Amino acid sequence: MNPIFSQVSTSVFETMSRLAGEHDAVNLGQGFPDDPGPEDVRRKAAEAVVSGWNQYPSMMGIPDLRQAIARHYQRFHNLALDWQSEVMVTSGATEALADSLLALIEPGDEVVLFQPMYDAYLPLVRRAGGVPRFVTLRPPHWRIEEEQLRAVFSDRTRVVLLNNPLNPTATVFAREDLELLGRYMVRFDAVAVCDEVWEHVLFDDVAHTPLLTLPALRDRVVKIGSAGKIFSLTGWKVGFVCAAPHLLRVIAKAHQYVTFTTPPALQTAVAYGLDKDVSYFSGMRRDFQAARDHFAAGLRRVGLDVLPSKATYFLNVDLGPRSAGDSEFCQRLVTEARVAAIPVSAFYAEAPVTSVVRFCFAKRTETLDEALRRIGAFMRGVN
Ligand code: PMP
Ligand code: GLN
Repeated sequence: MNPIFSQVSTSVFETMSRLAGEHDAVNLGQGFPDDPGPEDVRRKAAEAVVSGWNQYPSMMGIPDLRQAIARHYQRFHNLALDWQSEVMVTSGATEALADSLLALIEPGDEVVLFQPMYDAYLPLVRRAGGVPRFVTLRPPHWRIEEEQLRAVFSDRTRVVLLNNPLNPTATVFAREDLELLGRYMVRFDAVAVCDEVWEHVLFDDVAHTPLLTLPALRDRVVKIGSAGKIFSLTGWKVGFVCAAPHLLRVIAKAHQYVTFTTPPALQTAVAYGLDKDVSYFSGMRRDFQAARDHFAAGLRRVGLDVLPSKATYFLNVDLGPRSAGDSEFCQRLVTEARVAAIPVSAFYAEAPVTSVVRFCFAKRTETLDEALRRIGAFMRGVN
C-alpha cells in the first residue's frame, strides 16, 4: 500500500469528535456551527431535490451556480471572472485542493507550505509527488517574514499552498504580506493554490484580500472557496475553484476523474444563496462575533490567555511555556473536564508550537456556558 496513506494517522478532528462522544463532552474541537444554517437556502435545496434535476449535472458545475460565483466575487471583490473558462464547482474545498495539487505538481517539484496548516494539505502534496518546504508561523502574530521566504523559495519551487484567513490561527494575512509573497511567486515563477474557505467569516471589520485580486498574480492563483463555510452548512461539500483558463483547464481534468460532479440540488441552493443581500453576510458575522466575544471573556475569567481571533469559527488560548503541552492539555480536558478542543501542534509537520489550543466558538450560548463552567472547574483543579 502507499505509505503516505498507510502511515498517516486518523485526522485530529475525527479523533477528537470520537473522544467527545465517548466522554459525553461538549465538542468544541471539530469546526462546525450548531445553528442549522439559513432556512431559505436549505428550502431551496429541498425543493430542488423534490422537483428538480437529480441526474448527473455538467462536469464543470451547473451554469446557474458558475454564473452566481462570478457575480458574487464581482460584487464583493470587484473581481472579473469569466464563468465559462475561469469557474468550476467541486465537491467541497477538499476536492478542489486535491484536484489542484494533482494537476499542478510534477513529481519532484517543491511546494511551499505555511505551518500551522490544515491537515489535508501535506498528504495531498506528498501523494502528488511534491517536496514540501515549510514556512513556520509563530504566535501571537503568525505573520510571514521575508527571510523565511528567502530560505524556502528556489528555482525548484512550483506551487505555494496558502490558507487565508488561516485555520487554526484565526488570523487574516495583511495585504503587504500577500504582496511580499506575490513578489517571490513572480520572481520564482510559482503558482499559488489559495484556500479561502473562511473568506466571509471575518470579525471586527477586518478586510480579506483574495490573492487572485493582486494584479501581478491574476494568472498565477487558484482561488478555492466553500459554500460549507459561507452558509454555515459544513456537511454540504460544495466548493469552487476560480483560476485563469490555462490553469483551470488542467485542474478540470483532475476533477473529471476524482468526483466528476457535485449533487445538483445543492448547487441550485448555493447559486441562490450567493446572491443573498449583504445583510445576510453581515448578520452571520455579527452572530459569530458575539459568540466569540462571549466565549473569549469566559476563558479570560477562568485565567486563560486568549489570542486574538479575527476570522473563522475558532479562537486559541496560549498555555504558556510552563504547560505540559497542548496535546496533554486537550487529552485531560476531554477526559476529565469533558470539553473537546484541538491541540494546534497537530497542524505542524515539524518543530511544532506546542502551547496553543484551539476552541470552536460557533455554538449556542448555553453550549458555550456549559463548556466554560467545565473548563473553569478544571482550571481550578489544575492551579
Ligand atoms: N480548508 C480549510 C482551511 C478548512 O478549514 C476546511 C474545513 N473547515 C476545508 C478546507 C474543507 O472544506 P470543505 O468542507 O468544503 O471540503
Ligand atoms: N475544517 C474543520 C476544522 O478545522 C474540520 C473538517 C474535518 O473534520 N475534516 O475543524
